[in-house]
Amino acid sequence: MGFISFCSTAIDQLTLLQFPLQVIWKGLVLIIVLKATATLIKTFQTHRRLVAQRSYQPLASKLLSVMSKHHLSPKQILVVDNPQVLAYTSGWQHPQVIISQALIDQLTCQELEAVILHEKHHLEHHHPRLLLANQLLSDILFFLPVFGDLFHQLKLFFENQADLACINHQQTDLYLKSALAKAIQPQSLALPALAAAFLDQRIQLMTLRRTFVYAVSKTKLVWSVGIMILLITSFTAIPAVALPSSPETTASTVINRNCRDLQLFSPLKPVIPSHNMTISMIK
Ligand SMILES: [Zn+2]
Repeated sequence: MGFISFCSTAIDQLTLLQFPLQVIWKGLVLIIVLKATATLIKTFQTHRRLVAQRSYQPLASKLLSVMSKHHLSPKQILVVDNPQVLAYTSGWQHPQVIISQALIDQLTCQELEAVILHEKHHLEHHHPRLLLANQLLSDILFFLPVFGDLFHQLKLFFENQADLACINHQQTDLYLKSALAKAIQPQSLALPALAAAFLDQRIQLMTLRRTFVYAVSKTKLVWSVGIMILLITSFTAIPAVALPSSPETTASTVINRNCRDLQLFSPLKPVIPSHNMTISMIK
């Protein structure tokens, strides 16, 4: 009973926080919309910028031989005129492996095959779409630190899986490692890339031929659960005080307010908790 009365008092006191709670929730929704929009714009711009650099030169013979060996159609490979050594898998409906002419020029045939095998794994498992969805989820739930952690872990997991698929096919990690050494590039927003991201962990996992295992930070998990409970409590408190326009609630709130006024001006009257009155009048 003590706990229930404590909760009742706490909910009553939350009515005083009506305005700040509404401001917090509206601010939260605005930040979520802005973050998700920024992610979508940046990701689509990156994709469009890459596609706009399409090379119209005939495909190099070593690339054609790798494509033929691994049953990749010209629609699945896009070569771009870019001075950087880069490789991405991009696109959401019809993903493509995007590689630069500089990468083809600088890598040996086996290294190029390693890169194509790695990107082919991203392509066949729809990693661009999954990464974008996860980035958006991470933006929406930005206030829960565990989701940022999970997103990074997922990216490492995808890279690890693509590395292992390549190594299993080539039966060696030699060519992938040497290709990675030549193709250090910044990690793009939500595109799987042959990037420097997680390089130490990936090299270690490659050497051990191990699959990456998720390990979520316990501190971030505890913080996230705490924040979630706090937000759910505040969210459930808002409808009780936000006065939706249903006649029952409006009537009960007016009566409730009158009862409070009576209590304020008649100290000899027994004190009746306002939420009890609200419930009885609604019934
Ligand atoms: Zn990758």
